[in-house]
Amino acid sequence: MTVKVRFAPSPTGKLHVGNIRTALVNWLFAKGRNGVFVLRIDDTDLERSTKENEDGIRTDLTWLGMTWDETFKQSEKFDRYTAAAEELKAKGLLYPCYETPEELERRKKIAQSRGKPPVYDRAALELTDADRKDLETQGRKPHWRFKLSGGRAEWVDLVRGQQSIDTASVSDPVLIREDGSFLYTMPSVVDDIDAKITHVIRGEDHVTNSGAQIEIFLALGAKPPEMAHMPLLIGADGQGLSKRLGSLSAQELRNSGFEPMAILSLLGKIGTSDPVEARDSLQQLALEFAFSKMGRAPARFDENELNGLNSHIVRGLDFASVQARLARLPYGDKATPEFWDAVRGNIVTVPDATLWLTVVYGGGLTGPELDAVDQAFIGEAAKLFPAGDVTLETWKVWVDAVKAKTGRKGKGLFMPLRRVLTDQEHGPEMDRMLVLIGGDKARARLVQAAP
Ligand code: GLU
Repeated sequence: MTVKVRFAPSPTGKLHVGNIRTALVNWLFAKGRNGVFVLRIDDTDLERSTKENEDGIRTDLTWLGMTWDETFKQSEKFDRYTAAAEELKAKGLLYPCYETPEELERRKKIAQSRGKPPVYDRAALELTDADRKDLETQGRKPHWRFKLSGGRAEWVDLVRGQQSIDTASVSDPVLIREDGSFLYTMPSVVDDIDAKITHVIRGEDHVTNSGAQIEIFLALGAKPPEMAHMPLLIGADGQGLSKRLGSLSAQELRNSGFEPMAILSLLGKIGTSDPVEARDSLQQLALEFAFSKMGRAPARFDENELNGLNSHIVRGLDFASVQARLARLPYGDKATPEFWDAVRGNIVTVPDATLWLTVVYGGGLTGPELDAVDQAFIGEAAKLFPAGDVTLETWKVWVDAVKAKTGRKGKGLFMPLRRVLTDQEHGPEMDRMLVLIGGDKARARLVQAAP
């Protein structure tokens, strides 16, 4: 059996970290088994779905390397959904209801006040043909509910184990709205049947849906696919994803300079028994992925961890692979392999190199505020700065001379020199920085700091 999965985002917004994780787990599971990854665009909500969001989703998935083998949009399949609805109607499993939202709300309150669960009471099933005709003459239009069996919907979830949903405890789901439009529930099942999806992998917020959807699969004469419901993402503080993190989009991450493999390594490992470590390919992540490693506890998304993975990956990138990206930063067209080798261990993202590009290739720095004592010290250091070209040896030779002359050592010796030459208190090795900055610029900075 060929494994076939689908990732089914709604193009009503951008792809955010939660979606990326769902896409990723689908992708890893399928590709680890030579399977097929389908991108389905859930655009039945024609009003809120936009072409821009759809294009954005495709751009983001491509950027992340999660290419798809097949793709389609739900909006192309309304005929199929209509046919499936007719089939369910003919079987007496899809029935018209005429209650207004206010009526439903009132009944819900009454049920609750009697200590009963707020489940739809199926009053519409009691309507006679004459009743329905009456209502329709009054201008009422039906919405359509699927008649749940009232028994238990059961499956062995790949993450959660044995599941059993009492369908008597949930309302018959509305499949078609008053205006004739389809809600997500049935089209998803029809598509999974048509596309021969073998595994439905999604967030645990869909567990209750799955109960109803399993019954719809069976009602349409199909075998329900295997199911896996993943625990949701939470923030580093153990709380639910903050609004900001929850809406953190692939586009924002890209614009901030995050590497796809940092994002994917994090989202592929959190919530599993594997340690969170950087991997350099999706294929590697796929080899390591297994549902048996996924726990029931929520997966913690920690931005510090993302930063750590990103800086690890950036440190491993060679100049050729970042040259074009550096060139888009200020002074980046001047960057050399030596520059990159010096700074790559001191940045979190490639765009962070902007600081060091400015230090090395930019004109005058503002320069630190020095007190009189440090100014005098820099004055001495300036006099000892060797004439001519600087090499990788220059820094040590110079600092030794400054040390001998001034008696300073440790931080008191290095820090003012570093600050005057780079305007920073931390950064790449100074022997390399000095060569990159060059003798003339270094001398000018020393003079400017101690006129
Ligand atoms: N469009 C649905 C969602 O984004 C798809 C759910 C599913 O995977 O079935 O929640």
